[in-house]
Amino acid sequence: MKLNKNVARVPGMLTVLAIALAGFGQVHAAGVTDQDIVNDAITTHQVLSNGLGTKGQRYTPLKQVNVDTVKDLVPVWSFSFGGEKQRGQQSQPLIYDGKMYVTASYSRIFALDAKTGQKLWKYEHRLPDGIMPCCDVINRGAAIFGELVIFGTLDAQLVALNKDTGKVVWREKIADYKDGYSFTAAPQIVKGLLITGNSGGEFGVVGRVDARDPLTGKLVWTRPTVEGHMGFTYDKDGKAVENGISGTTNATWPGDLWKTGGAAPWQTAYYDPDVNLIYIGTGNPSPWNSWLRPGDNLYSSSTLALDPASGKIVWHYQNTPHDGWDFDGVNEFISFEYKDPKSGSVVKAGGKADRNGFFYVNDRTNGKLLNAFPFVNRIDWAKGIDLETGRPIYNEEKRPGNPFLQTADKPADGAAPAADAQTKGESVFNAPSFLGGKNQMPMAFSPETGYFYVPANEWGMDIWNEPVSFKRGAAYLGAGFTIKPLNEEYIGVMRAVDPVSGKVVWEVKNNAPLWGGVMTTAGNLVFYGTPEGYLKAVNATTGEEVWKFQTGSGVIAPPVSWEENGEQFIAVVSGWGGAVPLWGGDVAKRVNMLEQGGSVWVFKLHKS
Ligand code: CA
Repeated sequence: MKLNKNVARVPGMLTVLAIALAGFGQVHAAGVTDQDIVNDAITTHQVLSNGLGTKGQRYTPLKQVNVDTVKDLVPVWSFSFGGEKQRGQQSQPLIYDGKMYVTASYSRIFALDAKTGQKLWKYEHRLPDGIMPCCDVINRGAAIFGELVIFGTLDAQLVALNKDTGKVVWREKIADYKDGYSFTAAPQIVKGLLITGNSGGEFGVVGRVDARDPLTGKLVWTRPTVEGHMGFTYDKDGKAVENGISGTTNATWPGDLWKTGGAAPWQTAYYDPDVNLIYIGTGNPSPWNSWLRPGDNLYSSSTLALDPASGKIVWHYQNTPHDGWDFDGVNEFISFEYKDPKSGSVVKAGGKADRNGFFYVNDRTNGKLLNAFPFVNRIDWAKGIDLETGRPIYNEEKRPGNPFLQTADKPADGAAPAADAQTKGESVFNAPSFLGGKNQMPMAFSPETGYFYVPANEWGMDIWNEPVSFKRGAAYLGAGFTIKPLNEEYIGVMRAVDPVSGKVVWEVKNNAPLWGGVMTTAGNLVFYGTPEGYLKAVNATTGEEVWKFQTGSGVIAPPVSWEENGEQFIAVVSGWGGAVPLWGGDVAKRVNMLEQGGSVWVFKLHKS
């Protein structure tokens, strides 16, 4: 293992390293270590983390497949997830010791021989009838640690399986699915802890980040993401000890609304070892109807930086204070460096393409806003972001109308309205739609070009507010909506964004909304999938399309790459579904010809 750690830091030696390791069957006897995971971004023979490295840059230093050779990229194998139920496939595969671990819809996970696609084992989680996933029965991938592969299920459980046998080693409940909780993200291993969030912001759950011992599943700490809730650490007997309240009760929430405040961190957490912080985004405040909850409603629709030792919130930056559009703020915050054009000094930054249409650059050590600019063509809800205060400049007339102003029964601020108070406030048109300038599909960052590659969408929505009261396990929106395209020819746009200048450097339009993630490579390529079924490669500098392959169903998952015996492999999962067909209104009608699927594809260069 010493060889691995030391040699892996020299990029030129990577191929040699991979070949050397292939000869050492016993090297992996102890399984995946925390150091392996920290090194994931630079060790090219494996993919051990969601994001191809815990920073989540989704950049591979491999360059055998490059702008010149990619024309010879051909499929090696494909594997079907089978079953009668297909629906959306959003999983990022993991690669370890010649095996692929890939999750599928309906809380399934498969282990496959990475070279041949032969099935080694599968696990199908037994799901109860009453699960409440908001946005399809998807899963975004697993974590790997020691001898265990760990993934989350739609009934809000975590399951750890022996990586070689597929036998369940432990199973823990994150929360009660009957309350609207579910889990779809890929967990992340940070400093030997299993970091997870939860889903359920549409049901008035309480968002929470948890750290567990990955070998046992036992809780180490928990950090609620709604201001007013207490965090806890757990001693070795499992006894909860208070470790500080999150914020100040009622500082940004009226009355009791914080008790059902949402802010679900439903995406993967990322970790930057340089500054020792975990970054995770939080979803919408509950309910969507913002007239019921005056205030900023911390820590909803925010980027949070957490101390891995305790979960303490070290800093927060709220992208959409008092969110009234379900913009969430769950988009990934990706660490990167750039040279300050004025001082010439290197800035430790993070970038985030928010659902609300703005691209944010924050100082990742303290959260200070450094830059914010639109990455979509139309934004209605705000005129811009004030770089001094860090707050949006709202277009107040673009907040959906107050349903209670139209009734004699208008409640006092924060009070629940009478059930029969009013039916519908004024409907307003907003872009982006709540499906976002970018949604769950992760972007990529290339340290070589300095660009972020953002899978964006151009669409808007009619949105209005209605009275609503909280009922356990029931949708808690207080809003209605219809999603609408903005253009005839396209909705999706792959954009190369320069985070320093705030300029879009190039873009490639796509008819259907983009819903898969991105990977960029040292071969100057950007790989991404389309709902029309293509995995595409474009030139990272120019956006010129250089390769594509039809996978047979829509691609809404992020690609990965690794090397074995001197050959570079690329994999992506295919299977159309996700939130667009379920919530997409007029857009869903436009793309209703797309077929479901469920498979994983692997590619390498054809040797002539
Ligand atoms: Ca939401």
